Amino acid sequence: VFIVPHSHNDPGWIKTVEKYFLEQTQHILNNVVDALSVDPTKKFIWAEMSYLSMWWDGASPDRKQKLKTIVKNGQLEIVTGGWVMNDEANTHYFAMIDQLIEGMEWLKHTLGVTPRSGWAIDPFGHTPTMAYILKLMNFDNMLIQRVHYSVKKYLAKEKSLEFRWRQTWDQSSHTDMTCHMMPFYSYDVPHTCGPDPKICCQIARWQIQLSWKVPPVAITDSNVEVKAKTLLDQYRKKSKLFKSDTLLVILGDDFRYSAMKELSDQYTNYARIISYINSHPQLNAHMQFGTLSEYFDAMKNEIGGATNLPALSGDFFTYADREDHYWSGYYTSRPYHKMQERVLESHLRGAELLFALALPKVKWSQDGESFSRELYPLLVQARRNLGLFQHHDGITGTAKDHVVVDYGNKLMQSVMDSKKIMSFSAHILLSEMPSYDPKTTVLNFDEVFQGQNQPPQPTVIKLESEQRPVKVVLYNSLDYDRTGVVRLIVTSPSVVVMTENRNVIPSQTNPIWSDQVEPRTDRFELVFLSTVPAIGLAVYTMWEDNSVEDSTHATVHFINPPAGFGKRTRSKFQLDNGMLRAVTTVRDNMKTKLALDFAMYSSRQAKDKSGAYLFLPSGPAEPHTPDTYRPLVRIIRGPVMSSVHVLLPNVLHKVSLYTGTGAGTQSLGLHVTNDVDVRTGADNKELAMRLTSGISSGDKFFSDLNGFQIQPRTTYSKLPLQANFYPMPTMAFIQDDKSRLTLMTAQPLGAASLKSGELEVILDRRLMQDDNRGVGQGVKD
Ligand SMILES: [Zn+2]
Repeated sequence: VFIVPHSHNDPGWIKTVEKYFLEQTQHILNNVVDALSVDPTKKFIWAEMSYLSMWWDGASPDRKQKLKTIVKNGQLEIVTGGWVMNDEANTHYFAMIDQLIEGMEWLKHTLGVTPRSGWAIDPFGHTPTMAYILKLMNFDNMLIQRVHYSVKKYLAKEKSLEFRWRQTWDQSSHTDMTCHMMPFYSYDVPHTCGPDPKICCQIARWQIQLSWKVPPVAITDSNVEVKAKTLLDQYRKKSKLFKSDTLLVILGDDFRYSAMKELSDQYTNYARIISYINSHPQLNAHMQFGTLSEYFDAMKNEIGGATNLPALSGDFFTYADREDHYWSGYYTSRPYHKMQERVLESHLRGAELLFALALPKVKWSQDGESFSRELYPLLVQARRNLGLFQHHDGITGTAKDHVVVDYGNKLMQSVMDSKKIMSFSAHILLSEMPSYDPKTTVLNFDEVFQGQNQPPQPTVIKLESEQRPVKVVLYNSLDYDRTGVVRLIVTSPSVVVMTENRNVIPSQTNPIWSDQVEPRTDRFELVFLSTVPAIGLAVYTMWEDNSVEDSTHATVHFINPPAGFGKRTRSKFQLDNGMLRAVTTVRDNMKTKLALDFAMYSSRQAKDKSGAYLFLPSGPAEPHTPDTYRPLVRIIRGPVMSSVHVLLPNVLHKVSLYTGTGAGTQSLGLHVTNDVDVRTGADNKELAMRLTSGISSGDKFFSDLNGFQIQPRTTYSKLPLQANFYPMPTMAFIQDDKSRLTLMTAQPLGAASLKSGELEVILDRRLMQDDNRGVGQGVKD
């Protein structure tokens, strides 16, 4: 029996990461370091490098040395070693890897160790992408906990809670990862010693759980026999669920051991039990403090290696912890911040590349040193802010409001910093005499943020005559040439756009709306086709010219009821209340039924209602607006693109089509933008966008895992509606023999295919109450 003490420290949840550190985590780490360095039999594991690096920065030289010693001699094992314990549903693999690198790089530089075992006790469902990434990072083992209770029950019956996690696309065993799934409800003490929480809770000093009404007691000479035997009985029952007799018993909970007494009491109690059991051979058990890897090594040794474990493929979504409480709400909670996270990912990568290209050019100039010294720390901070948000209460949208604001400010700051780095780097790359002067703005940004929860405002480009042209620099951070439509806000509707080779290219100006029907006269949206080379910059020149052809000005129609639309485009619409009803692909002239509608789910009226984590709908969604509702519809047509805007309650729905093949991959699909605001008239409601097609998809659909792989899904009508929702980090699709309908998304959201031919996605949710999973509030931002 391996007793593995741990403390689960969320980098932000009820408190911000900084406040947790000041009030709890720094004391926990101080206590652990002090306790372990005086007794070599004591062990501990630690997972979050965000906290450990904060602690390191403020620790005394003596404590730093102690930490190094207990890590080096194996008493303190660093598990996973990521910046945080990342969410596994909403995260993109780029950011998962980024946060792992950030933590492990710190660890390697500071303590000189590389972790071997993964530790994910709190993420709300688990992805095989994590197993794959850890495998490629040379990990030997991983542990997971939050898995649907029925799946746990089944695997326990089969003695298959320990398995080789196999990628669905790799039937060879090359990417198999040894995985331990914890068998019970939680990672806290009542649920980790064995099947009976009433017995397990008695051994934890802090665990005065009223629900079990059995307060813990100190272990003394007079009660040690009874306590040890009772506990051993739980261990025996637990070990029956596994193939091996080696047993893992973890010992801790959220933010435990901030008081030294708690930690020393806990160690002392267990030391007495350990001593009793080990000195009574007739009990036929051996017990010790251990680390996670020590457990895995012993377990694998006993069964003759991990190859003797069964192989298992697939993911562990959607998680339910009891009854019909499926955790499918957090796939959508706080969608604005989920989107901002994707924006930071792309900006960070763009900034890293451009900085790396600019650095050699400026390095030997007199400004080279300050370019690196001032901008590189901003890159590091951006990686850490992105890493922090991957935490299972960050991107999940399950933290308290003030913590969400803190995450939001960190994301926004790093997006702005990344823009700054790109701006200075681009300037250096475009200059013949490279220089860096942080005080002068050489290139303005394309957009400016007003607040952490508001869409950025695009910069308005003031156009003048050909004698005073404006230059715009476009940057493509992808490793292939990119062709697409660029949108800018300008002060004139009559614009000439010219490439570096002095070719005038097709462009179009669209209205910007001052209210529902009135276009502004002082600013316009300029759209034009651009091609930017792989990891390259392109400079476009533009000016105002009132003699340009009127055909570059988009035409606008208001319809209600609307008429047909879209002669130039690759696809055709039929309109009913402005909503999409069919698509014709021009290439083969195939007309397909494809209706787009909005629907509202209501939270159920029962005691348990939807919240940040849970989706508990009262029943199927109702149409968002009645059939008779006639929204204002704007139709904007031009040579480059055409759009339909539908002004519905809670959502401004825009669909755009790009003309011909000039827009590259943008020409291949419909572009849907929904500006959603559920702050009024949507209390305890969730807004869904539903696509209804003629595709015979049956009960099957597909959604991605972490933007890395596709997972087939089956919709089960016997399961509650909320069980059939899955994370959609980047895409979902349905298909039959003839067609495939793919929905790609700018941010992670929850998606489902509840009926054959349907695909739906939850856009936003407003929930007025807590759902009893700890955050203690609703989702009302
Ligand atoms: Zn947690």
